[in-house]
Amino acid sequence: MPESNEFHVIIIGGGLVGPALALALKKRHGIRSSLYEIRPEDYNPGTNIALAPNALRVLSHIGVYDQLLPHGFCYESVVVSSGRGERLASYLAGSEKEYNFPAFRVNRSKVRSVLLAELNAQDIPIHYDMKFSSIDEEAADSVTVNFEGGISVKANFVIGADGVHSKVRRHLFPSSVAKYPNLFGVTGLLPRNQLHKSAAATPLPGMWYGQHGFIAVMPSSMDGEDIGFFSTLSGPDRPRNEWEALDTKKDEIRQMLIERHCDGAWPELISNICKSAPGEMLNIWPFYVVPTLSRWRSSNSRVIVIGDAAHGITPTGGIGAAVGLEDADSLAYVLSKIKQGCDLNSLLYTWELHRIQRVAQVVQYTAESTKLRRPGESFIRQWIKEWVLWAKLKYTGPQAGREWLYQYNAEDIVGILKSAGL
Ligand SMILES: Cc1cc2nc3c(=O)[nH]c(=O)nc-3n(C[C@H](O)[C@H](O)[C@H](O)COP(=O)(O)OP(=O)(O)OC[C@H]3O[C@@H](n4cnc5c(N)ncnc54)[C@H](O)[C@@H]3O)c2cc1C
Repeated sequence: MPESNEFHVIIIGGGLVGPALALALKKRHGIRSSLYEIRPEDYNPGTNIALAPNALRVLSHIGVYDQLLPHGFCYESVVVSSGRGERLASYLAGSEKEYNFPAFRVNRSKVRSVLLAELNAQDIPIHYDMKFSSIDEEAADSVTVNFEGGISVKANFVIGADGVHSKVRRHLFPSSVAKYPNLFGVTGLLPRNQLHKSAAATPLPGMWYGQHGFIAVMPSSMDGEDIGFFSTLSGPDRPRNEWEALDTKKDEIRQMLIERHCDGAWPELISNICKSAPGEMLNIWPFYVVPTLSRWRSSNSRVIVIGDAAHGITPTGGIGAAVGLEDADSLAYVLSKIKQGCDLNSLLYTWELHRIQRVAQVVQYTAESTKLRRPGESFIRQWIKEWVLWAKLKYTGPQAGREWLYQYNAEDIVGILKSAGL
């Protein structure tokens, strides 16, 4: 905390949610923050992710939506097919008309670069190569954060946005270790002109739910010429260094894709992608899930976790980043009320309860999505799965019953606090 006692927030983690929080604090509420990131400045990995309308709404609030648009692909409708290529239905993953925003496919590293450029433009400091190690919470109105190398920093609040294996979360809840649900993803990228000729008659983005696996094929650049894909596979967990080593063995990753999607049952478009996508673009991603937390803050409310640190979920619903961005946008407003002198514990209690309820709904939605993608179904279960997909989307119509998910506006926190008398 600076000598002037100016209200100051420390954010641990410079992924997606940490920078979004810093921008919301500064640009929307005039609050100063500093970010601390364990990785070096030039480390910015990422696969293609889908940003749902609720994510784009937050990015619009913090003034980076327009900067992001040239880096990815806007779409609305996604076609759902069986693993044999029979079209079952389509649904709206975004819609200017229904949600004021489309859905957007973009590389995570591009989203992060746009956020970091805006941090720079706003003079918000981000300190790289800073490994958070511990927190001292002795004082009533401040916390001291310690980093490896003996550096300590004092602030009014520390926000842990340090991802699914969060150390800040483990400071609050030492036994809260992320679990591996026996699922991992393989992603890849290839140019549209390398797709099988059947692509000309196949609407993209598309998702194929097969008996032995799931694959999504989605344009990922503004002109739609870069085609990304995402296959969900199952297998046992490995130590981190073994996952990293496997990620470098592109032939092994391709073999997994071939075993899963090239048995003659899948459409030629899919098997061709698995055989011909450039090896250097193939990557493997183990999924991890954070056990449900009943609190997101310390007993004196000075340490708070958000984003994957609070609620890492499998990426099978394509919504993890969106929910983390909602946390950031809504928490920034709550911190601004605290800065104005309103009661910290009541505000954070109400915000936390609201966010935990929202995340519980999202976790349920993601679990259903995971079930549909899990490979290794019997023939009968696969038949039921296809029937359920068809019937559900026919019954719900193009919005697929997802209005509650995509219409969410983090600004609603203003009304929620008001109705709680805050
Ligand atoms: C394969 C895959 C596909 C996905 N697809 C989608 C999708 O389609 N749509 C979607 O919305 N979401 C998707 N997600 C989820 C999304 O990527 C995450 O929800 C999002 O990145 C979470 O952001 P975060 O800032 O909370 O965490 P992260 O992005 O993980 O950032 C955490 C940051 O904290 C830093 N850090 C960690 N430990 C420390 C420490 N001790 N000290 C300092 N810094 C530290 C890390 O280096 C990192 O920069 C996907 C995830 C995966 C793995």
